[in-house]
Order: sequence, then structure tokens, then C-alpha cells
Amino acid sequence: MRFTHDPQHGRVVFGAAAARESLTAEVDRLGGQRVLLVTTPRGEALARELTAPLGARLVATFTGAREHVPVEAARAARALAGRERADLVLSIGGGSTTGTAKAVALTTALPVLAVPTTYAGSEVTPVWGMTDGQRKTTGTDPAVLPAAVVYDPDLLAGLPEHLAVASGMNAMAHSVEALWAPGGDPVTDALAQRSIAALADGLRALSAPGGAAPADAQRSRAAAREDLLLGAWLAGTVLATAGSGLHHKICHVLGGAYGLPHAPMHAAVLPHVLAWNAPAAPRAAAAIARALDADGAGDATTALAALAREVGAPAALQDLGLEEADLEEATDLVLDVLPPGNPRPTGRDDVAALLRAAWAGPPASAGPRLGAGGREGQGAT
Ligand code: NAD
Repeated sequence: MRFTHDPQHGRVVFGAAAARESLTAEVDRLGGQRVLLVTTPRGEALARELTAPLGARLVATFTGAREHVPVEAARAARALAGRERADLVLSIGGGSTTGTAKAVALTTALPVLAVPTTYAGSEVTPVWGMTDGQRKTTGTDPAVLPAAVVYDPDLLAGLPEHLAVASGMNAMAHSVEALWAPGGDPVTDALAQRSIAALADGLRALSAPGGAAPADAQRSRAAAREDLLLGAWLAGTVLATAGSGLHHKICHVLGGAYGLPHAPMHAAVLPHVLAWNAPAAPRAAAAIARALDADGAGDATTALAALAREVGAPAALQDLGLEEADLEEATDLVLDVLPPGNPRPTGRDDVAALLRAAWAGPPASAGPRLGAGGREGQGAT
């Protein structure tokens, strides 16, 4: 056993009502006197309510955060930060909003205080991403890692269930890949397993059919959001420290080239990458199976496919806008970025079979065609 554990994230405040109760104190801690709020048109009302106690310290609001952080949005947010002489960027929203705040931090070195409203996990990673036309560029810079995060499960009560399920599966992908990623160690392994179990619990509870008394149902949904957000935090943490691999590379390519929606795409691809890698990553697969296997349902691939079915996760790339005619080109694009340390040697036919299986949808547990085993061991977001 030989490793260097280099934890990446900043301060975390977690709990129901934390945003309402702790936001001003966290702004104070970071010395924020001129706060730039970054959000979306949809998130603006909530963000305004949460930041009302800041009064005149909120000097500007940027509502132009958009999926995949277009460079135009990044430039506009940076210009606003400069004009208003902001000293703190406060993001309230999903991964796209956090990503826009990170884009401001990248060129201004302003500290970021992140208040996530999805389970994307970007708020605890030093990874930034931006798109220029069809081209998505990502990079890692400690300057973009939020200085503090306020996790408040209450804020996710309004996230529609289909988005919550997809977002939870996006977090699941971070933790699954961390178990075979190049920078994994015993600490990230333990966090990833805890994350997978919490995400599975939260997803099952969120999607469980009603029947309980309304108050019980409400309590169980609140508990589900808590599990999911805990799982999402740990997932972002292990993504930042352990890195990622084949799954995130495939999603990076598909998101950039075909504009597929981020979280649903992760949900549709993950069971197929797991089915492919599991035979060559037995320790990772056993850990995933243990974390997922609520009913003793067997191996990691079967358990993940069963969970995805049970919670109604997006299951087919053809439903998300990928055309069958795109598969050939997508295969070539993935081949260009294949991570060298994937547990299983992966060639063109393997990528083609995996993408076709993810495009077509279930049965994911059968997985793409299986070949010879390989070794455990690389990774993008
Ligand atoms: P998103 O931020 O685009 O949000 C998805 C949708 O949910 C949007 O329509 C948004 O308006 C809506 N929404 C968000 N919170 C809501 C709430 N509480 N209630 C109702 N609606 C809500 O998507 P995402 O999946 O959170 O993030 C995806 C982006 O994050 C991608 O650009 C991805 O590359 C990036 N990301 C980056 C990292 C990293 O480490 N850098 C990690 C994960 C994701």
C-alpha cells in the first residue's frame, strides 16, 4: 500500500436550514463586503430570499449561468465582478451555476462561497469547465475550489424528481469511478462506499411510492434529500481527490460534442461502463456491490442496473438526443481521449459496443460484449 492523500475541499457547513441560518456568518468568515451573487433565472427568487440579510453587501447579481458554462457567460460574469469591485462570489444553484462562479474565480482569484441546489458535486472540486461553441475545455486550478460550501437539503425540495434522480446518479458516477481511478486510496475508497450507500438510500426513498401518512411521507423525503446531499458531497470529494476515468471521459465527449444533458447522460452511461470494467476491477466491484446491494441481489453490475430501474433513472442516450448516426463519430472521439489506466484494456470495438448499448438502453446488466481482463488503476469530469 503506497499513496499520497491530498484532500482538496474547503469548509463545509451541512444541515437542514443551514442556508437560511449560516449564510451571512459564512460571508462574514470570508470577509465578504462586496458580494457578487451568481445564479440562474430559475434560481433567482430563492437566491434573493437567502441573500436578503446581506443588505447592501450584495453589490451585484449575475443571473446568466447556463449549462456547460459558455465562455460568453463567463466573460459577462467576470466583467460584472470587475465593474462592481466584488470581493466574494456567492453561487446559489446547480453545477452550471457553481461552474460560472468558478470561471470568475479562475481569472480574478476571488474566493467562492457555494450553495448547491443539485447533487452535481462541483462545489468541492478544483475542476473548471467552459464551452466555446461546440468545444468543451476543462482544467484544474486550486483558485476555483470554493473556500466554503453550505449544504442545505431544504433547498433541494423544489428539484423535480426526474432531475433529482438524474443528479443523484451523476454523483453515483463520481463515487463508482473513484474506486478504480488513478488517485484512489483507502480514504477515498471508504468515502466512495459511504457515498454510494447514501445515494442509493436517498434515491430509493425519494422514488418510493407514497402510502405513508402525509407527514411521514414528508419526513422521509426530507431524509432522502439529506442522504442524497451527503452522498453528493462525498462524491464530489472523491472525484476531486481520486480523479475519474473512462466513464467521465465518455460523458465529457458526449456532452461537449452533442450537447446531451449532463446528469441524465451520466445516469444512462454509468451502468454500461460498470458492466464493462467490473470483471477487471474486482475489488472496486465488490465494494460497489456491498454499498449498493440492499437486498443481497448479487454483483455490482446487476445491483446498479436494478437500482437505476427501480428509481426510474434515464436509461438510453437515444432518449437524450443522441442520434444512432452519431455513434460512429462518438466512438472515434472517445478513442482520442481513452484514459491509459482504465482497469480493462479497451479498444475501438469495445467503445463502439459500450456506446451502442448505452444509446439503446436496458438491459444494462448484460453489458456490452466482454473480453479479456486487465488491471485496476485513470481519469475527467
Ligand atoms: P444544472 O446546474 O444545469 O441544473 C440542471 C437543471 O436543474 C437546470 O435547469 C436548473 O435550473 C435546475 N435546478 C437546479 N437546482 C434546482 C432546484 N433546487 N430546484 C429546481 N430546479 C433546479 O445541472 P447540474 O447537473 O447540477 O450540473 C451540471 C454542470 O455541472 C455541467 O456543466 C457539468 O460539467 C458541471 N459539473 C462540474 C463538476 C466539476 O467538478 N467541475 C462536477 C459535476 C458537474
